[in-house]
Amino acid sequence: MKWANGRVLILDDDATIGRGISLLAEHLEVDAISVCHPNDFFATIDQWNPTHIILDLVMPEMDGVEVLQLLAGNGCVSRIAISSSMGQRILNATKQSAAEHGLDVVCVLPKPLTMKSLKEFLFSPIDLSVATVAQNRSETVITKVDLLDAIARREFCLVFQPKIHCKTRDLVGFEVLVRWEHPSKGLIMPDHFIPLSERLGLIGLITDQIVEQALNWYARTAAVHGLSVSINVSAKTLGDIDFADWLDDMCQKAGIPNDVIVLEVTETAAVVNQLSALDMFTRLRLKGFQVSIDDFGIGNSSLAMLARLPFSEIKVDKSFAMKAGSNEECRAIIRSTVSLGHGLNLTVVAEGVEDEATLNFLSEIGCELAQGYHIARPMPGGSILDWMAQRDCACTKCEIEKDSTMLRMSGEIAIPAP
Ligand code: C2E
Ligand code: CA
Ligand code: CA
Repeated sequence: MKWANGRVLILDDDATIGRGISLLAEHLEVDAISVCHPNDFFATIDQWNPTHIILDLVMPEMDGVEVLQLLAGNGCVSRIAISSSMGQRILNATKQSAAEHGLDVVCVLPKPLTMKSLKEFLFSPIDLSVATVAQNRSETVITKVDLLDAIARREFCLVFQPKIHCKTRDLVGFEVLVRWEHPSKGLIMPDHFIPLSERLGLIGLITDQIVEQALNWYARTAAVHGLSVSINVSAKTLGDIDFADWLDDMCQKAGIPNDVIVLEVTETAAVVNQLSALDMFTRLRLKGFQVSIDDFGIGNSSLAMLARLPFSEIKVDKSFAMKAGSNEECRAIIRSTVSLGHGLNLTVVAEGVEDEATLNFLSEIGCELAQGYHIARPMPGGSILDWMAQRDCACTKCEIEKDSTMLRMSGEIAIPAP
């Protein structure tokens, strides 16, 4: 039976190879067209709307990277495979760059192509998370008025993602992540409104609301366990000389010690504003707050900057831990960052930990802390206590609580009436 909706378009400057892949695809009962020239390729996309594209990387008129850039510019939604006889490193780098342009690059297909790898590409399940993000990107148009309304109506809410100790697996704290509960557009993720808020100069007002909510939640839920709370701070906030005093005041009012607060700033932000960052970090550190360099490894920081600014923590960008299981280069980057961090007396956190093997690897190389979907997804503040109970937290405070619960259950302590 023919797969009614499958259409694969192949671009390869070698007509024999293109025809060969077409034949394999047709054998799998998927319609196929192969072309040798980029002009024919883009014309066929317009007329034929392929579901899948197989792209050769090395071509005389236009290389595969240029083709991918044009595809991204045209908002291509086809599923893409890159085929080439180049080394795996170059193929992976191309795949990564295409994914960062928002293209759905499913895989790289080393040449010569086999029936098995072609079949896997053509029939691989659709990654819904990519589709949802792509949908969000095109549908969520946010204006300054929307943001001002959201600030006035206090539509921002927080979710919390646990951070654990790699070796002992003890819970050590939470990172606060913001969400926007829009009355008609639904839940909007921070990547869709934080950069715009920064450009419009509204991030300060949003950060104020986030900090307020985070401190309230902390005082009610996490303070008793002596956990830390990490708050993301934008580059713009670093330029605000009053921020340190304001935060200090907020913590005092909430009865929260400053040293449980970790302020996460992205590597790029710290680089762009080095001068104000130095003043700001120094003031924050003098007041006892911790400062973490976020997304480390993907920005432009220099070692000199890292030594110069008084950070207390390095947070290795999630892209490295997410690929650590399959990619030796990512493991090497994490290993080096851990040793760099320790050399500078900093705590190292790896985020994006998605499996047990990665957590074990981090523990073996001496990375202190971990965060990621394998440990827990970000969750609403109201779910944290249940999550902690389910996880059977073994920290001393919880052990005391567990003991008293056991005593209550065994009747040694009277159970209060509901
Ligand atoms: P970030 O600070 O690097 O936050 C980590 C992001 O990685 C979060 O996305 C989190 O949900 C996601 N994540 C955590 N573990 C995993 C994992 O194992 N796998 C994968 N694939 N992802 C994981 P989220 O919540 O969408 O936040 C995106 C970014 O938005 C944050 O990146 C941060 O830069 C910014 N952001 C979030 N909340 C705030 C905020 O309150 N203020 C500011 N200024 N920026 C914020
Ligand atoms: Ca962060
Ligand atoms: Ca990060």
